[in-house]
Amino acid sequence: MTEKIYLDNNSTTPCDPRVVTTMLPFFNEMFGNAASRSHPFGWQAEEAVDYAREQVANLINVDSKEIIFTSGATEADNLAIKGVFEMYAKKGNHIITLTTEHKAVLDSCKKVEKLGGEVTYLEVQEDGIVDLTALENAITDKTILVSIMFANNETGVIQPMKEIGDICKKHGVLFMSDATQAVGKIPVDPKELGIHLMAFTAHKMYGPKGVGALFVNRKNPRVKVTSQMDGGGHERGMRSGTLNVPGIVGFGKAAELAQKEMSKDAERLAILRDRLETKLVESLEEVYVNGNVEHRMPHVTNLSFKHVEGEGLMMTFNQNIAVSSGSACTSASLEPSYVLIALGLGDDLAVSSIRFSLGRFTTDEEVDAAVELLIKGVNHMRELSPIWEMFKEGVDLDSVVWAEH
Ligand SMILES: *Cc1c(COP(=O)(O)O)cnc(C)c1O
Repeated sequence: MTEKIYLDNNSTTPCDPRVVTTMLPFFNEMFGNAASRSHPFGWQAEEAVDYAREQVANLINVDSKEIIFTSGATEADNLAIKGVFEMYAKKGNHIITLTTEHKAVLDSCKKVEKLGGEVTYLEVQEDGIVDLTALENAITDKTILVSIMFANNETGVIQPMKEIGDICKKHGVLFMSDATQAVGKIPVDPKELGIHLMAFTAHKMYGPKGVGALFVNRKNPRVKVTSQMDGGGHERGMRSGTLNVPGIVGFGKAAELAQKEMSKDAERLAILRDRLETKLVESLEEVYVNGNVEHRMPHVTNLSFKHVEGEGLMMTFNQNIAVSSGSACTSASLEPSYVLIALGLGDDLAVSSIRFSLGRFTTDEEVDAAVELLIKGVNHMRELSPIWEMFKEGVDLDSVVWAEH
């Protein structure tokens, strides 16, 4: 077993070779600055950016004028949240979000609190889905923004976007979504769902790293955000900085490919994901699926292997399988994932979780090989584990008083 198997596509995806080919001429042949208005080098770059903007806009069924290019989803999340907070300060200072959001959203909200804003962090239900009644009850006359992610990066759980959009519309509140994990994988149509601002990124959909976008609704309502990056007034004044032309061209191509291939990819990956999940659940004892299994992304499963520490389990693969553990996202320390804790998992089940995220280039053979290595790894860890032995002997582990060391 020498080939490395990549099942961590929620962290990043490889660039599709067709994307790379499309990008290459823009490094040295057509290298112009898209803002250079006075010569053909600039015009050529501008034309390429315009084309890519159409491709990205088409993927989510919006007008190309509504796409603001950024350096990625982190920047788009920051721009949306801080930008709305500043722009709509006269209207109110209250933002509602979820405890299970990505750090880019949560930390932007923390910054808003430092600047005098108020943020409600809503708990989710046990399956990871927002409680719509709690959401509606949290809205006050000071609320300016609801920020709820489309699909969770750790569990793949998809939120009821249309229902949330309806609630926001009813109360005249802007609706922002971090849709990084959904765009390019499943159909996403912000206008139909009542989403006014939406962040996403190229490198999670087979495009290059370092380029993303914020969709900003232009009509009914006309939404504006205060720029967080000041300079030459690029991107309709909302995001200054010389455009990353090769990156944007690659993002456009990735969007075009996603539009053409997502249904086929999603169908294939759902079958493969289910096969992986079923084999593991059937071959091993005490395996739990985390999060809602119906409303989730087709290529993702998050599993807890009771009494098997995820980081340790990953070491048994000798780095032959790339996955994420329930403690990897806060990788400086071995803290359990706050997303899984929010679903009501105890620390032990949270640290025993593994996220599998398949992708366009995942093969059947790779999944089967990974499953075999996993079963071996889990059995091996459990054979060595006194806790597992006690558990099997029927010892009530909650009542055990552990000696301090
Ligand atoms: C990856 C990810 C981000 C960050 O995107 P970058 O382009 O890497 O900044 C934000 N939100 C979610 C949900 C993500 O999965």
